[in-house]
Amino acid sequence: MKFATKAIHAGQEPDDSTGAIMTPIFQTSTYVQAGLGENKGFEYSRTSNPTRTALEACIAAIENGKYGLAFASGMAAESAILSLLSSGDHIVSCDDLYGGTYRLFERVMRRYGVEASYVPVGNLVAYEQAIRPNTKMIWLETPTNPLLGLVDIQAIAEIAHRRNLLVVVDNTFASPYFQQPLKLGADIVVHSTTKYINGHSDVIGGALVLNNEEVYQAIKFYQNAAGSVPSPFDSWLTLRGIKTLAVRMRQHEENARTVAKFLAEHPRVERVYYPGLPSHPDHELAKRQMSGFGGMVSFQFKGTHADVAQLVRRFKVFALAESLGGVESLVCHPASMTHGSIPQEIREARGLTDTLLRLSVGIEDIEDIIGDLEQVLR
Ligand code: PLP
Repeated sequence: MKFATKAIHAGQEPDDSTGAIMTPIFQTSTYVQAGLGENKGFEYSRTSNPTRTALEACIAAIENGKYGLAFASGMAAESAILSLLSSGDHIVSCDDLYGGTYRLFERVMRRYGVEASYVPVGNLVAYEQAIRPNTKMIWLETPTNPLLGLVDIQAIAEIAHRRNLLVVVDNTFASPYFQQPLKLGADIVVHSTTKYINGHSDVIGGALVLNNEEVYQAIKFYQNAAGSVPSPFDSWLTLRGIKTLAVRMRQHEENARTVAKFLAEHPRVERVYYPGLPSHPDHELAKRQMSGFGGMVSFQFKGTHADVAQLVRRFKVFALAESLGGVESLVCHPASMTHGSIPQEIREARGLTDTLLRLSVGIEDIEDIIGDLEQVLR
């Protein structure tokens, strides 16, 4: 089956007892057992729940992986991956990444004796040089949040697998519609399903997809042991969101391309970050490892922080808000919002300045989106 068909059907059979075409919301904590050890595959909803099982199967199918696991948030999914590590272990990570991931590495994992080193996003040699005898994992985000840098997943997988390291790819920005990291050699794909996968800004959720059974069993054990699972209702909403992922992503991208081109030609814009622009340093890599360029566009405004603070108040279609990937357009000021947890000197050294704005280009009519940018920049 191809992508859109899987997104609509995978993991979802008509309900046995009623024929209901939509997977029911199994809003139950427990399941009646016929006798000791005799059950219908479900015992307690932290361990598994049929609505969540359908979601996990569907996400695994659209990422082309064997196993899926759903979590209460993207951060819960990330924490579950990190549960594979022990005190004394080391992670090599790209240096442009979601602020919450950085916070998890630096303010939580470091206390448990797990250290992370950060290397420039696209510098393959730097990844290799950062590997130590105690390194267990290479952690990538591609495209990165918020500077839309790219990492060559296949090249990193070759470096990592020569040393038995796991490659984790946060695929939140691209979505499985535009990029499938397992096919490129990644071991674990992580998503904030809060974003494109659910797509309607009404659920916080996360997911992992992987092929290795041993690693899957270890993370599944943690999922039950630590318990940050999504509710049946959130699982159902996310399943419903996934059904339109293909059409939404196509429209997000069409609109984002137009926005990127418009901004690139605007005199008040210093620089545009969008992998679909031929001027993007990783445009060729994007064409090779992605099947589209996505709906996220960042840009540096030509002006001061104070100008930017004024400007964000004037949007009418774009809403000033954290998050991304919903059908509505959002604008975010990463330095004070999503990436505020990264110390200022580190942020600025990475190019994440006070005049950077990140757009999650929605699927409204493009004339309204461009009109809004035009009036704000004017
Ligand atoms: N990964 C990326 C790239 C994100 O942008 C986010 C949230 O913005 C997360 C992970 C964390 O996801 P959540 O907010 O669902 O916990």
